[in-house]
Amino acid sequence: MTISLRSRTKHFCMFMLLAVFFCLFASDSAFAQRNVCYECKTINAADAASCKSCNLALNLCLDCNTENPADKDFCSKCNASLAEMRILGRIDPKTREELKLGQSERAKIEKELMKVGYLLEKKPEDEEKLIFKKAMLLHRMNFFSREAETWREFLKKFPETKKKSTANAYLAIALRKWGYLLYSQKNKDEAAQLFVEATEANTMDAEAWSWLGRVKMETGKNDEAKAAYLKSLEANPGDKVAINFLRRLKATIPAELLTPRADDKK
Ligand SMILES: [Zn+2]
Ligand SMILES: [Zn+2]
Repeated sequence: MTISLRSRTKHFCMFMLLAVFFCLFASDSAFAQRNVCYECKTINAADAASCKSCNLALNLCLDCNTENPADKDFCSKCNASLAEMRILGRIDPKTREELKLGQSERAKIEKELMKVGYLLEKKPEDEEKLIFKKAMLLHRMNFFSREAETWREFLKKFPETKKKSTANAYLAIALRKWGYLLYSQKNKDEAAQLFVEATEANTMDAEAWSWLGRVKMETGKNDEAKAAYLKSLEANPGDKVAINFLRRLKATIPAELLTPRADDKK
């Protein structure tokens, strides 16, 4: 009984929340009304931080508790995006906690991405650090295509960066995972291109070579498949998958590649 009542309350909260979201986003005038206190309806100055009648914070940052002027989109102290917080801030903290609003890993990363986007405009001198951060956030999100594009941008803009090898290693991983998605959608030509780019970014990415070998073999390019599997084996000697396919392709395998390198053995 209690449970069903609780879940019904929860559903009602969800419904109300959606209604609030809808109303706020649907109307263009919503942004003009930020200075209107949602508790007592007093109209405050456009840049007021709190309501002149009831003292309610009009644009509170839920991350660092700074009371920002109503006309600001990003927190003056921590640069967090305030748009979502203005809505979350109207929901009482207990309900917010219970429904875990804005707390999912994805929601947190998206918030961080908005912050990075804002800082890229505000502090262009930090571009190298910020694009790197953006790529790492996309990596955590498993957004392979956007991650790869961000690493490409990073390496193109900062070819002499100290983080070049790290960026190339991550680029290779993102490209081969993106390539695998295309491969699984039967788009083998574009997948092959991404696998090639992955092996160029990091010649030691054994999996990228292995996938390149696979797609070449399946498209009847056996010589290219052999070459790719041999590279995979060079990057990861003793790898059973590569050895297996090389034998199938009737390739000669150098003896030293048949067993793992001494320093790889534990
Ligand atoms: Zn008020
Ligand atoms: Zn803040």
